[in-house]
Amino acid sequence: MNRTGLRRGFPASPLPFRENGMLDARVIDKLEAIVGKDDLFTKKADLLSYGYDAAAGAGVPRTTPDLVVLPASTEEVSRIVRIACESRLPVYPRGAGTNLSGGTIPLHGGIVLSMQRMDRILEVDPENLTATVQPGVIIQDLNNAAAVHGLIYPPDPGTVATATMGGSVAECSGGLRGLKYGVTKHYVMGMEVVLANGETFRFGGKTVKNVTAYDFASLFVGSEGTLGIITEITVKLIPAPKFRRAMMAFFRRLEDAGNAVTDVIKAHVIPATLEIMDKTTIATVERYAQAGLPGDVEALLLIEVDGMAQEVVDAEAKAVADVIGRHNGALKTASSEAERDRIWAARRAALPALAQLGPTTVLEDATVPRSRLTEMLLAIQQIAQKHRLTIGTFGHAGDGNLHPTIVTDAGKAAEMERVHQAVDEIFAVALQLGGTLTGEHGIGVAKMKYLKNEIGMNGMDVMRRVKKALDPDWLLNPGKVVPPDEA
Ligand SMILES: Cc1cc2nc3c(=O)[nH]c(=O)nc-3n(C[C@H](O)[C@H](O)[C@H](O)COP(=O)(O)OP(=O)(O)OC[C@H]3O[C@@H](n4cnc5c(N)ncnc54)[C@H](O)[C@@H]3O)c2cc1C
Repeated sequence: MNRTGLRRGFPASPLPFRENGMLDARVIDKLEAIVGKDDLFTKKADLLSYGYDAAAGAGVPRTTPDLVVLPASTEEVSRIVRIACESRLPVYPRGAGTNLSGGTIPLHGGIVLSMQRMDRILEVDPENLTATVQPGVIIQDLNNAAAVHGLIYPPDPGTVATATMGGSVAECSGGLRGLKYGVTKHYVMGMEVVLANGETFRFGGKTVKNVTAYDFASLFVGSEGTLGIITEITVKLIPAPKFRRAMMAFFRRLEDAGNAVTDVIKAHVIPATLEIMDKTTIATVERYAQAGLPGDVEALLLIEVDGMAQEVVDAEAKAVADVIGRHNGALKTASSEAERDRIWAARRAALPALAQLGPTTVLEDATVPRSRLTEMLLAIQQIAQKHRLTIGTFGHAGDGNLHPTIVTDAGKAAEMERVHQAVDEIFAVALQLGGTLTGEHGIGVAKMKYLKNEIGMNGMDVMRRVKKALDPDWLLNPGKVVPPDEA
């Protein structure tokens, strides 16, 4: 453990801001004057729930902030950040806290800025196919508003019903439809951001084309709260597909499932969704949700093709069926919306079901080029055997984005040591196969120690220079993504 109580490998560099407990009463008074008494918390009992997020238990530290503020407008965010900047206090933006990389943990105390009150959909514009929202809008609420116009906002992490637009933009969330429709970065057209000194900065907008200035949207999407506070987002919407067909394919060999994924794409079919579940996950989901999944298969694929014309969907479904047959898979097609819902309920049950197996789940996010999927799947199985661990793997196979989920017990030190070794090895294999540390869950605090393995020391240096240019005192979400110096 180092001085911030972080686990092995988490750097604790000297930082230029005040540490936990250094908030004085005058700062609290100033903040209270901005948001009012009801939207500022300082009581320990209130602060506790802001000390963790969905990565809790995965070796990510748990700490409490000095206070939590809930601003209601960009102007309030700007005034709060100005005060934090003058007082050199760290600021941690927070949406719904569903991220899986410890991104919202207030590692050094200071201020948690909960964006949940900024939850208005400002506009859905069916002529320009855009929507403009405040960051606290829940993703599903945006989709409900878009549906009135026959439109959808495609990024759909498993937490669509709870996660906020601000948090998902800051994470560049993906989800089940990434293969055909892309991920959050493909939909963000403009933003308003409050910078570390409290200044407000707007860029982009509703135009389909815009190459004015640097591509700031690309910089801020996925910046995990370390470069600015997102206070408004304009996103692209697309027409909702009119027809769809969901299928499930069962395989007795994991290799066949992995190879079928590659061959579906090679057959020039891009399904909206192409997911995988391994044997451990299938058995666990069946026990948890009684979804009617067979007990004697090594893997299953969950596939959905969609489109604007029935003939196109039929042709794509047939091409998928041919590939599945060639790889010795047994195919089941949903014959009603109710059956379709059961297929996707089984997939969405994967993580909750695995989480029932033990007190701690360590969910990883290794991502490889699709053509290396089979190698990655087999490597995860070997790593599980080698370290005598239960690892259920599921994920977005079409994107090469796997979620090996280790079921363990954080209270057992020796087992946790094996878990850390297994995670190190999973990421090492992903990088060897030309992959990446995270396809959608972000670096946060959980994957910081691996970052240089992927981007090298030059990459780390460029990251630091960008961070210092926008946040010289390292006040925004410190302890996440990139450390100020090599620890
Ligand atoms: C069961 C489960 C399933 C999941 N499935 C998926 C999935 O399929 N695909 C996927 O991509 N993710 C998935 N996730 C991860 C998570 O849901 C997403 O990352 C989510 O979009 C985060 O949104 P949030 O509002 O909870 O953000 P938070 O967790 O509150 O914050 C996430 C990050 O964004 C920063 N942040 C929050 N708001 C702002 C803001 N306004 N300005 C600047 N920074 C901000 C925070 O500091 C933090 O670094 C899953 C998580 C769970 C628990």
